[in-house]
Amino acid sequence: MRRKTRQIHVGNVLIGGDAPVAVQSMTTMYTRDVDASVAQIIRLEEVGCELVRVAVPEKLDALALGEIKRRIHIPLIADIHYQPDLALIAIEQGVDAVRINPGNLLPDKETGQQFDSFRTIVEAAKRADVAMRIGVNSGSIDALERGAAMRKVSMKRLADGTLQRTDPAEERRREREALTERMVAKALEYCGWADSLGYTNYKVSLKSSNVLTAVEAYRKFSAASDVPLHLGITEAGTLVTGAVKSSIGFALLLADGIGDTIRVSLTAEPEEEIPVAYEILRSLDLRQRGVTFVSCPSCGRVEIDVMTIANEVERRLTKVQTPIQVAVMGCVVNGPGESQDADIGLSGGRGKGVIYKKGQYFKTVPEDQFLDAVLREVAAILPEHEARLVYNPDDEHGPVSAGRTRKGGIPTQTADAMAAASASPKTHTTHGIPLTIVTPESDEE
Ligand code: SF4
Repeated sequence: MRRKTRQIHVGNVLIGGDAPVAVQSMTTMYTRDVDASVAQIIRLEEVGCELVRVAVPEKLDALALGEIKRRIHIPLIADIHYQPDLALIAIEQGVDAVRINPGNLLPDKETGQQFDSFRTIVEAAKRADVAMRIGVNSGSIDALERGAAMRKVSMKRLADGTLQRTDPAEERRREREALTERMVAKALEYCGWADSLGYTNYKVSLKSSNVLTAVEAYRKFSAASDVPLHLGITEAGTLVTGAVKSSIGFALLLADGIGDTIRVSLTAEPEEEIPVAYEILRSLDLRQRGVTFVSCPSCGRVEIDVMTIANEVERRLTKVQTPIQVAVMGCVVNGPGESQDADIGLSGGRGKGVIYKKGQYFKTVPEDQFLDAVLREVAAILPEHEARLVYNPDDEHGPVSAGRTRKGGIPTQTADAMAAASASPKTHTTHGIPLTIVTPESDEE
């Protein structure tokens, strides 16, 4: 059950309330390089990115935002640190939202107050109907305050008056508690600033590179406020590390109904973030967009080159938006069952495979036609505009599999020797116990 937050809008995308959890990413270049920024954003749009954030480090970058905005189709969010002037230029340039951390804004030049810098941005955002993300990161909580809070909890005094270090896990838990309380207090303070200015079109993020810290901070904030939340595990890591950390953090929160937008941060091309985000949302039944892909991990029973074919099929289906299920399975043990559950399924056999369509046997194809056959049948069940993205009859899809069946992967001499050996079971001894080598029957996965 989604937690009901108050609804805001970033451009034409609704955030919070009954709106679906929105998927966001961030570009990787200076926005002054307009062509490269636009090209990357268009690639992000094609795979389902719904909001895009761009870093705006200098005035030159802020001045490029209008041109980028004119050439893309999804809301543009300017990420500003320190300089209120850059936020004001971004708003003038027509961005849909600005992301700021009020805690690191330079103070107003006249009054010396951070609040006044914040107020100037909020007033411009109100006039232009621009949204805002108030971002608090664990790393930006004042180092001295964090240190003091943590020192308090790192030792405990025993009954005899001696000091003893608390156990490391307990210490980390208490450090998290102190840090997340500080993060949430800061976020609520900044929300109070916005509310006092009559501005409500904002969301909040409470990021940390530590999964449990982020989860705890979001949970605490969510218990105290109905402001919509943007979820992120910051500096999460490379493709595998980042995907795992984001999946764990987001799943813990989204399963509790917390989270209105998400960004999976990866040290990878941003286009790689979007499929991970949708996979998380599909797994939790929060979004149905795109292909639910099922493939077997492969094992000693594999009859086809399932790794190559599965990866290639999945890669070629990343632009599909229609919710469908596609399966690629390596052998007859679990292949037919999973393939029949899918809209289009391929179940491998020796040198050939069976294509299932909507649960029914469709046809048998040789291994060098797997990719072509699967893509053709997937395209056949998609709307026309998506079918063109998946399968163009004029394209040469070619064989993707080198036919690395189990037998094919074994050098001929060894395969022949094994065949001869299996024809006449032999008895060996090991530790004095007779051991008969037999050819196993098929087994469960
Ligand atoms: S037994 Fe399962 S994992 Fe192994 S090849 Fe067959 S379907 Fe794949």
